Amino acid sequence: MPKDIKYKMMLQFFDCFFAYWYRNRRSLEWRFFDVAPDRAVGIYCGMQLPDPTEYRRLELAAPRTVKTSAGEFLLVDPEGLRRLVEEAFHDLSFYFRPAHLRQLAGVLEDPAASDNDKFVVGALLKNAAISAEGLLPMCQDTGTATVMGWKGERVLTGVDDNEPITRGVYDAYHKNYLRYSQLAALDMFEEKNTGSNLPAQIDIGSVAGAEYRLLCIAKGGGSANKTALFQQSKALLNPAALEKFMREKVAALGTAACPPYHLAMVVGGLSPEMNLKTLKLATTGWLDGLPESGSTEGRFFRDRYWEGKLLEAARDSRLGAQFGGKYLALDARVVRLPRHAGSCPVSIGVSCSADRNIKAKINADGLYLEKLERSPERLLPASSSAPGAARIDLNRPMSEIRAALSKLPLGALVLLDGPLAVARDSVHARLAELLAAGRPLPAWFRDHPVYYAGPAKVPPGYAEGSFGPTTAQRMDGYAREFMSRGASLVMLAKGNRSPDVAAACKDFGGFYLGTIGGAAALLAAENISSSEVLDFPELGMEAARRITVKNFPAFILCDDQGGDYYAGLLRPRPGSPKEGRHE
Ligand code: SF4
Repeated sequence: MPKDIKYKMMLQFFDCFFAYWYRNRRSLEWRFFDVAPDRAVGIYCGMQLPDPTEYRRLELAAPRTVKTSAGEFLLVDPEGLRRLVEEAFHDLSFYFRPAHLRQLAGVLEDPAASDNDKFVVGALLKNAAISAEGLLPMCQDTGTATVMGWKGERVLTGVDDNEPITRGVYDAYHKNYLRYSQLAALDMFEEKNTGSNLPAQIDIGSVAGAEYRLLCIAKGGGSANKTALFQQSKALLNPAALEKFMREKVAALGTAACPPYHLAMVVGGLSPEMNLKTLKLATTGWLDGLPESGSTEGRFFRDRYWEGKLLEAARDSRLGAQFGGKYLALDARVVRLPRHAGSCPVSIGVSCSADRNIKAKINADGLYLEKLERSPERLLPASSSAPGAARIDLNRPMSEIRAALSKLPLGALVLLDGPLAVARDSVHARLAELLAAGRPLPAWFRDHPVYYAGPAKVPPGYAEGSFGPTTAQRMDGYAREFMSRGASLVMLAKGNRSPDVAAACKDFGGFYLGTIGGAAALLAAENISSSEVLDFPELGMEAARRITVKNFPAFILCDDQGGDYYAGLLRPRPGSPKEGRHE
C-alpha cells in the first residue's frame, strides 16, 4: 500500500477515536474512577467510615490556613506534630480505651466465666488502675512504636514528617519509664539495643482533603508474634473448610500474647501485604465502621456472622483468659477483601491485653487525641476472690522447692515468696555459649527458679519497673540442655511450652509455672520488693537479675510427671462440639 494512503488511514483512525472519546469522555472517566477511590484508599484511611471516637483537643495552637494560587492549605507546625505523637505514646502506655476496660469488667459479671478468667481479669483491672497513676506502664514490653498516617493533600508541614514523628516517639520513650526493646543488627548475628526504642515504624499515605489522621500503636513482641499469614485457595471458601481452619488457627494461637485478646482474621486481599496491613488495622478497631456486605466492585467488608464463629472458636478452645475458661478473646473481627483468582491470603492476629492503640487527627480546628480512660479504678469490683493458693518458699534449696511443687496438682495456683533469677533470650544465648566453650553454668542459674522477663525503666519509689513475664516458648530450645545440667529446673513465664519441655520436666524433675501476662505494673507495685543486676549488665533490660518476690501468683503448667496443663485443655473431649466439627 502506498505510504500516503497509509498515512491518511492513520489520521482517519485517530480522528474517529478522538470523536468517540470526546462524545463519551464523561462515561469513560466515570468508569475509570468507579472502582478506584473510596473503595480502596478511602477504606484504608478511614475518612469515609463512621468514627464515633471521642477526642480531646490538645492545648496547642490550631494550624493556620494559607491561601495560594492552587487553593487553601492547612499549615501544620512540625512541633505540633511532634507534641501530638509524644502525647499519643505517653497516653497509650498508661491508659486504656474505655471500651476495652468495660469489656474486662463485663467478664467479672459473667456467670459462665471461669474462676481463673475472673482472677486474671481482676488482676488486669488492678493493673490498669496502677498504670493510670502514670509511673508504671501497663506492660513491661512497651512495644515497637508504629505510626500510620493518612495526610490530606491540602495539609502542609514543610518538612519530612518522619522527622517530627520520630522525635515525638523518642521523647515519649525517653521521658517516661518505658522500655527500650529495639535491637540494631551490626551484622547478620551481632545485635545491640539502640537505647532509644527507635527506629519507629512510620507509614504515611496521601489522601484527599485537609485533615491529617494518625493511628499510633505500641505493639509488644509477644502480640506481634501471633500474626500469621496463610496462603490459601478457593478450596477454603466454603463454610465447613473455613470453620475448621478457624478453629485450628485459634487453638494454635495459645496464650503467650496475654489474653483476653481482640482477635481478627482477614480473608482475601490483592496481595499478602494488603491482607496484613488490613489485619493490623482490624486488630486496632480502625476498620470497625466498614460496611457489612460485599459488592461487585470489590468493597471491603466486615462479616458479622463469621465474627461470631471466630469468637465461638476462641471460647470453645477452653484456653480462656490465660489459665482455662471462656475468655481467650473479648471480641472478634473478620474482614473480607477482594482477591486475585489464583491467590487467597488469610491472616489471623490479635491486639493483646496491652491494647495500645490511639487515634489522632489534625484539622483546621486544632490537634486532637483519642480520649482514654484516666480513672479505671472505678471499674474495680468492690470485692474479689482468688482461687485457693499454696505458698512456696523460694528461700529453700531447689530440691525442697521442687518437692513442695510436686505435692500439688497440675493447674494449681501458688504464691511465691523469695528470690528468683531473671534471664531471657540474650542471657540464655550467652549461657549456651558458656556450655559450648566447656565452662560451667553460673551458680545463680542453678540455685534459683528462673523468671523469663525484662523490665521497663525503674520509676522513683519502686524496686523495679513494670516487670511481667515474657513468652516462654522462645526459651524452649535451651530448656532440656540446661535442665540436664541441674539448672532451670523451675521456670516461670507465660504461655504454653513445646512437648519437649514437658518431657524434659518429667526426665529431670522440673516444673514450668505461668504467671499473669499483661499485669506488669501490678507485679512491680505489689509483688517485687528488691532487684539487682547479677550478670551481663551490657544487655540492658535483658541483663541477668536477682529479684525478691512476695505473694507472686503462678499456676503449675508443666510438672515433674510430664503433665502439660494447656495440652489437657486443648485435647478434644468425646462428644464436644470442638471434636464434632473437626472430624
Ligand atoms: S500484654 Fe503480653 S503480649 Fe502484650 S505487650 Fe505485654 S507482654 Fe507482650
